[in-house]
Amino acid sequence: MSQVMILADDNALCACEDCEWKGEASDLDMISDFEERVSAGETVPAGQCPRCGALAHLNEPPPGDAGRSVTVFVSGGAVQKADVPQGVVVTIIDYDIDGADEASLSKDHEGAACTIATYRG
Ligand SMILES: [Zn+2]
Repeated sequence: MSQVMILADDNALCACEDCEWKGEASDLDMISDFEERVSAGETVPAGQCPRCGALAHLNEPPPGDAGRSVTVFVSGGAVQKADVPQGVVVTIIDYDIDGADEASLSKDHEGAACTIATYRG
């Protein structure tokens, strides 16, 4: 099972798409089975609702530079491709310490600067 969380700003306001939960991005859970629940071109959820487990989205896109970077936390899976607009900085926090070729992962991907940070406990 993979778990992914996209962080823009810990204090950004989010809402669950299923129940009435509203709160800050820092209260969200990591998204389980991200690749099965989110399709390419969909608005990327900010996390998983801590109350019901449905996907939760930011109420509004973060302003200015805060909207130009995303952090992807990966546990138990692999990011195959990140489709982001040109100029957006992608940071991937990989909780799996085996099997990653950090040199090739951290190259510039079609205009998106990509940083790989491997979690080491
Ligand atoms: Zn909910």
